[in-house]
Amino acid sequence: MAKTLFEKIIDREIPATIVHEDESCVAIQDINPGAPMHLLLIPRKPIPRLCDAGPEDQALLGHLMLAAGKIAAAHGYGEAFRLVVNNGAEAGQSVFHLHLHLIGGRPLKWPPG
Ligand code: 5GP
Repeated sequence: MAKTLFEKIIDREIPATIVHEDESCVAIQDINPGAPMHLLLIPRKPIPRLCDAGPEDQALLGHLMLAAGKIAAAHGYGEAFRLVVNNGAEAGQSVFHLHLHLIGGRPLKWPPG
């Protein structure tokens, strides 16, 4: 299988600003930020979409949620942040390696567009 864009970033084949790394995930700055904090939290495991995750990924998905809160706090936005997963092209997914958008630092409207 060809590596995903995010696997190449994780493997340092493509440059990115990495702000967090642990045994199961990496967080990078989004190349086209939509807010003062716009990070992408990426599992090392290349699950294409959230709907492709299975019961074996339960702990990993929980880890991503908890890591997101800690990373938001480390960036000064622990009390007000948004987590977004775009699942599928019609929902806006463009990179088919599961990732959580971690957004904060400006007022966020609801519902998103
Ligand atoms: P999606 O549309 O799949 O939910 O989100 C993909 C995100 O990846 C987009 O917000 C886009 O700006 C970001 N992105 C695309 N290519 C790159 C890249 O090469 N480097 C970084 N850091 N972000 C990227």
